[in-house]
This record gives sequence, C-alpha cells and structure tokens, in this order.
Amino acid sequence: MGRVSPRHPRAESLRVRAQLVEGFKAGLVVPEGLTAHGRGEAFDYILGEQTSEHARRAIEAAVAMLLLAKHPVISVNGNTAALVPAEIVELAKVANAKIEVNLFHGSVKREASIAKWLRRHGAKEVLGTELKFSTRIKEVHSDRRKIDRRGIAAADVVLVPLEDGDRTEALKKLGKRVIAIDLNPMSRTAQKADVTIVDNIVRALPLMVKRAKRLSHGSKTKLREIIISFDNEANLKATFRLMLNRLKS
Ligand code: ATP
Ligand code: MG
Repeated sequence: MGRVSPRHPRAESLRVRAQLVEGFKAGLVVPEGLTAHGRGEAFDYILGEQTSEHARRAIEAAVAMLLLAKHPVISVNGNTAALVPAEIVELAKVANAKIEVNLFHGSVKREASIAKWLRRHGAKEVLGTELKFSTRIKEVHSDRRKIDRRGIAAADVVLVPLEDGDRTEALKKLGKRVIAIDLNPMSRTAQKADVTIVDNIVRALPLMVKRAKRLSHGSKTKLREIIISFDNEANLKATFRLMLNRLKS
C-alpha cells in the first residue's frame, strides 16, 4: 500500500487494512477474512472508531472471567493472528491461558503458518495443529468443528475474537463460558456470548492486557464481584443506544 498521511481521517483504519493485507500475503488470512473485516469496519465507523465505556466494562468483566477460569483458552483465527499477535501472547501469559488456532476456513498449512507466527511473537505453546489431539464438536458440521482435546475441548472459558455464530452456539451447548470480541452487536456471536466486547480487536486486545495485569494482583472476591455486577444484555442494549444516538446526530 502507498504511504498514508497520518492526518488522513482514516489513517489508523488504513494502517490496519494494510496489516491485514500483509497477513493475507503471508498466508495467515484468507480472502473471506478480508471481507469479514470490512463488515467490522462499517460498525466501527458508527462507533466513531473508539472504545466505548460499555466496551470498557465488558473488557473488565472478560478479564475477570479469564483470570478466574480453571482452564481458559484463547481461540485464534487468521485475522486475529495478523492484527494482534503480540497482544494475544501477552494476554495468554498474564491470564495463564492456552492459545489454540481454530479456523473457520480450515487448512493444515494455514494452521501451521499461524502457529509459527504466534511462536515468533513469543508463544511457548500453540494448540490446534496436531491431528493426534484433535477432537470434534458434534453440534457443528463440516470441518469447522475441529478442536484440541487439551485446549477448547477441556476449557471452561473461551475467548473468541471474531467468531462465527454457529461455532459460538456450539461452544455454549458444550457448557463453555464464551467471551466474544465483535464489532457487530447484532451478530449471533455477540448475542450468544456471556461477555460481548463490542470493539475493534486492535483496540480491545491492548486494553485487555493492561486490565489483566492490574486485576491479576487483586483478590478473587473482587474478580467475582466484577463478573456478578456485569449484565451483558444491558450492556449490549446500551451499545445499541450509543450507535443509534450517533446515527441520529
Ligand atoms: P455471526 O456468524 O456471529 O452471526 P456474521 O456472520 O455477521 O456473524 P462472521 O463473518 O461470521 O460474521 O464473523 C465476523 C465478525 O467479526 C463480524 O460480525 C464482524 O463485524 C466482526 N469483525 C470483523 N473485523 C473485526 C475487528 N477488527 N474487530 C472486531 N470485530 C470484527
Ligand atoms: Mg457467520
């Protein structure tokens, strides 16, 4: 991509696009990932391309849930790996979570490329690439149902940045608590998750790392209080209102 002036009103958004295109060229991202990002951008535009107070509240609850989990797992797809690899690795470290590559458009080669890319950013262990540990979610058809026995299959809490609705529903049916990051508050993923962070992953992940570092020193009682006082449905409604008000004015 050509050079973009930092004064360009879409400078940050264009930088993120370029990063995704690099990920595409490197074999991390599929063409469908590029279009999914475009859908996200449209919602981000309405949100004013900034993290709302509602998203901040969801981030706090999400981090508390990850820190309290017995077996937290962060599910990583191509777009997530391309956009926030270092932050994923850092969050996993602070929250003591496992990282699992889990692709909507699965391919052994792309799984391996993503795992290698995450290791290059400091990940010690990346699950989801070895056939011998692979098991299936019965509720999901086609090749999208593959999960790792040591990872998502055994998890109590799963963070799914940019997940598809079918798989989110399947994870819920398996009894997992699901944390979603999704710019579309109307998607099935956003509606079905236990904690929905309506924000761009490029902003949400660094904030999650910061929050996790701070909250990891707090008591479990405090973490439980944060989760109990968080109401995802009310938070999503407040996000809708914010978007509506922005559209009206
Ligand atoms: P669902 O299957 O949950 O109903 P969908 O079919 O509309 O949603 P998918 O293509 O399955 O969408 O998933 C992509 C989702 O990720 C979209 O809702 C999109 O808004 C969101 N998204 C894309 N890029 C980002 C990003 N950078 N940050 C946060 N969310 C994003
Ligand atoms: Mg979908």
